[in-house]
Amino acid sequence: DRTMTEGTPRAVHTKEPIPGVDKIIAVSSGKGGVGKSTVSVNLALALAHHGKRVGLLDADVYGPSIPRMLNLNEKPTSDGKKLQPLEAFGLKVMSMGFLVDEQTPMIWRGPMVASAVTQMTKDVDWGQLDVLVIDLPPGTGDAQLTLAQRVPVSGAVIVSTPQEIALIDARKGLAMFRKTLVPILGMIENMAYFISPQSGEKSYIFGEGGARRTAEEQDCEFLGEIPILMSLREGSDTGEPLVASEPDSEGAEIFKAIAARLIEKLDSA
Ligand code: ADP
Repeated sequence: DRTMTEGTPRAVHTKEPIPGVDKIIAVSSGKGGVGKSTVSVNLALALAHHGKRVGLLDADVYGPSIPRMLNLNEKPTSDGKKLQPLEAFGLKVMSMGFLVDEQTPMIWRGPMVASAVTQMTKDVDWGQLDVLVIDLPPGTGDAQLTLAQRVPVSGAVIVSTPQEIALIDARKGLAMFRKTLVPILGMIENMAYFISPQSGEKSYIFGEGGARRTAEEQDCEFLGEIPILMSLREGSDTGEPLVASEPDSEGAEIFKAIAARLIEKLDSA
């Protein structure tokens, strides 16, 4: 019994459902810069590809990058009660980046982050959604903990590179979700390898199979590996994410396969 060994589980009774939203997937990472936002965006698009109505909440209040990744520059409007999400590639999108200037440094402290995020979930007119994907801030601090406790997350996905340094923090993420009784959907290895355009050979730049081994050791599902792709990086920078711009590419197929598996898991939960 995990609850016996990892201390008292945190209360779950404070979680209120988001009206109109069926399932919530939280995408998290132990460290910044591992591709969590890139994965969130392309996974959201892949879920939409499978016919789901999908929302994307950029809760990475420290460094909201979703507006740039989807080339969204407008400010969301409000009817005095709720904020209207913006739309991109069929996704409903909300980000702290819409509300605060990109140049403004944000000196959010833990509690402020948590309240900002709960507001962005509750005070947004999401309409009817099958899935809301939340791009969490990196790390396992108080903010993430409070969020995991307050938002009724259906399941968490953990993104890591194969490096040991990233995996150490990914393990902390797993522990946090277990402690807060959030089901763990699985782990995704990003930047798993690079395919040489000349020889077609795979190079394991950050080491081979680290996330897969960690997933096994931690008894959580390994959802798949995403290579280092120029097209993914370019898509993020230009606001034309890969799954939308090249939906039949090899890279997009990987996201679609992971999305299909997530749908299967959520439906059977
Ligand atoms: P995080 O959200 O974890 O901080 P980002 O998603 O912002 O990370 O990614 C960091 C940088 O790495 C971005 O410039 C992004 O375009 C790039 N990137 C992420 N994943 C890949 C990948 N698989 N291949 C190539 N570039 C990637």
